[in-house]
Amino acid sequence: MAGYDVIVVGGGPGGSTAAWQLARAGLRPLLLDAAVFPRIKVCAGWVTPEALADVEVDPEKYPLTIQPFTACGFAFGGAHHETRWRRPASYGIVRSEFDHHLLNRARDAGADAREGARVTAVTRERDGIRVVSERGVFTAPVVIGAGGHHCPVAKAFGQVSGQEQVVIAQESETRLPPDRADAVRDAAPELYVEPDLKGYGWYFPKEDVINVGIGVVSGPGVDLPQRREALLQSLRTSGRLPEGVRLEPFRGHAYVVRRRAPRRLAGDDFCLIGDAAGLARDLSGEGIGPAIRSGILAAEAVVAHGRRGTPIESYAHEIVRRYGRGETGWLGRQLAHLPDACARALVRVMLATGAARRHVVLGRIFGMREVSS
Ligand SMILES: Cc1cc2nc3c(=O)[nH]c(=O)nc-3n(C[C@H](O)[C@H](O)[C@H](O)COP(=O)(O)OP(=O)(O)OC[C@H]3O[C@@H](n4cnc5c(N)ncnc54)[C@H](O)[C@@H]3O)c2cc1C
Repeated sequence: MAGYDVIVVGGGPGGSTAAWQLARAGLRPLLLDAAVFPRIKVCAGWVTPEALADVEVDPEKYPLTIQPFTACGFAFGGAHHETRWRRPASYGIVRSEFDHHLLNRARDAGADAREGARVTAVTRERDGIRVVSERGVFTAPVVIGAGGHHCPVAKAFGQVSGQEQVVIAQESETRLPPDRADAVRDAAPELYVEPDLKGYGWYFPKEDVINVGIGVVSGPGVDLPQRREALLQSLRTSGRLPEGVRLEPFRGHAYVVRRRAPRRLAGDDFCLIGDAAGLARDLSGEGIGPAIRSGILAAEAVVAHGRRGTPIESYAHEIVRRYGRGETGWLGRQLAHLPDACARALVRVMLATGAARRHVVLGRIFGMREVSS
């Protein structure tokens, strides 16, 4: 059996990026993913320029579906506002393609990536971390948990608590027939803030693909199918859903956002990254960028540990420095303290004010910023 330096559990954007960076640094990573790629990942597929730069994907040269967005609409309380940029401030990709691309790139760099290898147990033994999978049992000195919301490494070592803020979401992604695709090809994405501010729906056109979905903070009385139907109704009424198009069935998923997420992020022999660490952004739920960035940081920590003996735990400090301890952001704190009507009024004002919408809502919360050329 090959001796591995690191086992990466999960091959989404976080795990593939970590394995890619580790292999590039000359280490021997083994990546195990339960799925066979290209696999479906429930996700709108909106990525920031920063995330693409982190994975060294040049949007001009990316060979798969990608749509640059130079505008974004916001609807709330009967009002609609649009923000425009001179250059792309975000991009739309198709997750099954994007994730497969990143996984293959990690493989090309030298990572041993095994698909259809669900991990069923992770334990700490005298000779290292033992990972039991459907494709064999492996041991390495370090494990990186990148298995998303149900990551077995997070369950084993992350002290996951029941106090976390979980977002539940449903999404449908449909590739349109050629005679319908032109109707959406140059459309801008739209975000629909829920009347009670518990989440938002979206309409994302990506070349000939449309992605429609809704995500809300889970809690008592939150009826996701009912909210989804209300969103679909408004999309039909506004003509955004082309006549006669049958959407692919909706799929559901849940994930933890970086709010009250007191997971243990690293120890002597493990790191958690991406959704396994609960790193998706508060309010917007953007998770691809944090998964990628944390994958890079985890790989750097593991390499520094091997070369200089730097504690792997330094990774956790870097995550806290960059993303905070999981506390609610400024806007979230204001909204939480205000009575409902005042919170809605604050959001209405923020969205109606061009600068606040551009810099605070789209820029800080959603990470949509045009890159300087
Ligand atoms: C409906 C919805 C829409 C979203 N839209 C966006 C968006 O537009 N933009 C954005 O930035 N973020 C979005 N997010 C969040 C984003 O999808 C996640 O934050 C991101 O995928 C996290 O990446 P990851 O690599 O940590 O985990 P994942 O992408 O979830 O990858 C985890 C991998 O681990 C594998 N795995 C799981 N369990 C095991 C196991 N036991 N053994 C082996 N492998 C395992 C899975 O097969 C999977 O491939 C959305 C989320 C949802 C639910």
